[in-house]
Amino acid sequence: MEKKRVPMREQPVEDRIHNFDEVPLGFSAEEAVAEAKRCLQCANPPCMGHCPVLVDVKKFVKEIAEHRFKDAYETLKTSNPIPSIAGRVCPQENQCEGVCTLGRVGEPINIGKLESFIGDWAMDNDVEEPLDIVERPEKVAVIGSGPSGISCSVDLRKHGYQVTIYEALHKSGGVLQYGIPEFRLPKHIVDRELGYLEKLGVAINLNRIVGLNVSFEEILDEFDSVFVCTGAGAPRFMRIPGEELNGVYSANEFLIRTNLMKAYMFPEEYDTPIVVGRRVAVIGAGNVAMDAARCALRYGAETHLLYRRTRTEAPARAEEFEHAVQEGVIFRELVNPIKINGRDGWVESLDLVRMVLGEPDISGRRRPIPFKGSEFREKFDTVIEAIGTLPNRLFLERAEGLEVNKWGGIQVDKNLQTRIPGVFAGGDSISGGATVIQALGEGRTAAQSIHMYLSCKN
Ligand code: FAD
Ligand code: SF4
Repeated sequence: MEKKRVPMREQPVEDRIHNFDEVPLGFSAEEAVAEAKRCLQCANPPCMGHCPVLVDVKKFVKEIAEHRFKDAYETLKTSNPIPSIAGRVCPQENQCEGVCTLGRVGEPINIGKLESFIGDWAMDNDVEEPLDIVERPEKVAVIGSGPSGISCSVDLRKHGYQVTIYEALHKSGGVLQYGIPEFRLPKHIVDRELGYLEKLGVAINLNRIVGLNVSFEEILDEFDSVFVCTGAGAPRFMRIPGEELNGVYSANEFLIRTNLMKAYMFPEEYDTPIVVGRRVAVIGAGNVAMDAARCALRYGAETHLLYRRTRTEAPARAEEFEHAVQEGVIFRELVNPIKINGRDGWVESLDLVRMVLGEPDISGRRRPIPFKGSEFREKFDTVIEAIGTLPNRLFLERAEGLEVNKWGGIQVDKNLQTRIPGVFAGGDSISGGATVIQALGEGRTAAQSIHMYLSCKN
């Protein structure tokens, strides 16, 4: 039994901090087969049970080990419509890889990189899943084109429904497109995975904000069922003095300017600049904070991640945290901003306080408590707040009849049905922020519920 993983080749640190190209270089076919051959083919594999979309990990890994890449692709696609994406961004260490039997004696199988290898291989070789769609007349609207909208649309089309996506932005993909940077998730991969929707016959209406340039009532009139998956794009702020100063960004704004508006290609290819100072403070320690910090670093800033708890409690994916620190992001734990100071309308410094950890709070993590008398001031010229997001409000305010839950998201029952018959909701719009794979899973559950609803109705 080979205890160590086949090493993943990566762009050298000294190169990658000057570009936005993908950091891991991916497995070659030989490397993928060698990694897959490490799998023990457990009699009761725990890996599958820990995948929110129930990918048959044991089967697709075996197919790779036997060099049957097309079969592996078909196995993956039965549960996950976007393997190239999920393989790159899922927090595998808390899911399939976290419970892999090999992890008890060595390193778990690199399931994520095997998944993206197969997804990429299929794209490069124009391999497509065999489809046999029996058309049905019922029309379903999907509001939002993030992971939950994608998986729901795919499953509904496979059942034969006529599916139309409404997307507020000029590109589809949700956070995959506008939030996660190129060096983690190249946009040509997102575009190619989304191309699958069009091949299936899903209609995508871009630049259509439901609640603004098309009303929710019009959608209810026109369609037999609706899936709402508008995500959680409204940033939370710390609500400390000085947040109105120039140089303070929400991570969402900073990442949208970078990824969707391509500020990193200014001025050569895009006319959309971004202002980033020389010393940047990013507040938070989740994936969003890491993404913002790694972008700021690539813009040439000395970048500090300020977190009120410690590394142990930081919610970011392990790989992302490691990459950020390797690249030179300075991680500073047990510290919290209390005031942003400015000069001539621009950020000049932060007032900070040191923290200590107390008893666990309702999240199960130890509660950070300010250490009295430890306040200090430090110079920064840009502050990026990455402390979480809330479900998009515009839609909720204008969609009459939907109930809001305690997280500010849409209230649903166990089948993801809202209180309006035939209207379902899922993804970050109900949870207020989770993971790509959870959103994919909820999209699939909603598709199943919509199928049941329409089948019983007729
Ligand atoms: P979204 O992806 O948010 O998509 C919602 C879509 O709805 C958007 O395209 C939006 O424009 C559209 N929309 C909103 N309102 C309207 C309207 N009124 N009309 C029409 N369209 C509308 N998760 C991971 O698992 N791994 C990671 O590494 C990871 N990194 C992340 C990094 C960042 C920067 C962010 C922000 C999130 C990250 N996440 C990660 C979380 C993950 O991306 C989300 O949980 C997931 O994208 C949620 O999917 P969704 O389909 O619910 O919503
Ligand atoms: Fe293979 Fe690990 Fe799954 Fe066992 S738990 S089948 S070793 S991937």
